[in-house]
Parts: sequence; C-alpha cells; structure tokens
Amino acid sequence: DVPLLTIDGPGGAGKGTISSLIAERLGWHLLDSGALYRLTAHAAVKHGVALDNEVALAELAAQLDVAFPVEEGQPRTLLEGEDVSQAIRTEQAGERASQVAALPKVREALFQRQRDFCRLPGLVADGRDMGTVVFPEAQLKIFLTASAEERAHRRYQQLQEAGVDASLSSLLKEIQARDARDTQRSVAPLKPADDAITLDTTCLSIPEVVDRLTDLLAQ
Ligand code: C5P
Repeated sequence: DVPLLTIDGPGGAGKGTISSLIAERLGWHLLDSGALYRLTAHAAVKHGVALDNEVALAELAAQLDVAFPVEEGQPRTLLEGEDVSQAIRTEQAGERASQVAALPKVREALFQRQRDFCRLPGLVADGRDMGTVVFPEAQLKIFLTASAEERAHRRYQQLQEAGVDASLSSLLKEIQARDARDTQRSVAPLKPADDAITLDTTCLSIPEVVDRLTDLLAQ
C-alpha cells in the first residue's frame, strides 16, 4: 500500500504551505488538487468555454494538458506549455475554480487524474475532498482549519508582501463566499472525513503545524 496523507480544509488555512513542507520532509509526492480546478477554469476562459457549461468543462478537464515541472528549485505549473503559475493564484482564479468545482461531471473527469498521483514512496494530497472522496483509504486524514478572519488576515499579509494592493474586508467577504459555496454544494461538499483529525491553526505557526503532523505520522 502506498502511504497516504490527506490534508483537507477551507481556503487559506495553510494547506498548500503545510502540504509541500511535509512532502518535502518525507520525500513524498504532492498533489495540489485545487490547482487542477484552477487550471480547468483557466483553460475554460482561454478557450471561451462558459463556466456553467458542464459538459464542455468536463471534456476540457479530462483533456487538460498540464505539467508540474520544478525549475531551479521552483515548482511551476504549465497549461498547454504556457507558464500559468501566477495566473492561477489570483482571487478571481480561485473564485472561478470553485464555480467549476461545483459541477459533478468536472469532478468525475478529474477523479482518475488525482488517483494517478498515488505512487511510492507516498503521497501528500491537498484539497477539499481528498479524505472523503478521492483517497478514502488514506492512513492519516487531517482537516486543517482556521477562523475566516485569521485566513483573511494571512492572505492580506501574503498580498502585501507581494506588493499587491488589497482590502482586508473584501478578502474576508471573498473567503466567506468561497467557504459557503464549497460547503453547500451538492457533490463532495467541504467537510471533515469521519476518521479525520481536525487541526485548528488559528493560533499555530507553520512550524508548529508541521511538527504536529510529523508526530501524528510517526504514531
Ligand atoms: O485549494 P484551492 O484554493 O486552490 O482550490 C480552489 C477551489 O477549487 C476551491 O475553492 C474549491 O472550490 C475547489 N476544490 C475542490 N476540491 C478540491 C480542491 C479544490 O472542490 N479537492
């Protein structure tokens, strides 16, 4: 059996950072499943496919030409050979991703692509439904969360560091809207798996979370 760690939770809880640190520490593969939804939405806009055209979007998702090369130590995301690493990280890209992610046929189309990441020596899978739908057999399932205010604050700081203008109150509104869509959708709604361990990171630093997860993995 391939060792599997799933890390699910709402946007901005630190899943991406934590998952890549753990994967690096263990030497395991990393699946950023949110990137696949972001890429599907990005491809749709690029090819003029409407974000509510479920059949066309599912086809796009099934045929998505993506690669995740590491160049000079930096992970890159290529869509049809074009570097979209930055373009898929905007708030708008996240919002569009959550729109296409609510469509059952899109989720179906991305299911096997996600399963294919499960290879030795192990996989850290980051997303919303990794422990509930895509990898229900995972040995350790984490539900990483933090208050919406704290997540908005973290995002605000990230943007400031990147020199991007942002408003804390509109970030909070966007986070709350995305939480609502992700938890209320009919397929694979965001919720902890029955056997998941919930970790609230509101008052924890990144190294503290990594240490806790490393301890849990060693048990
Ligand atoms: O995690 P990230 O912010 O990149 O995800 C973008 C959107 O993709 C989420 O808001 C969610 O709607 C969707 N998503 C999902 N299932 C996953 C990962 C992401 O529905 N496993």
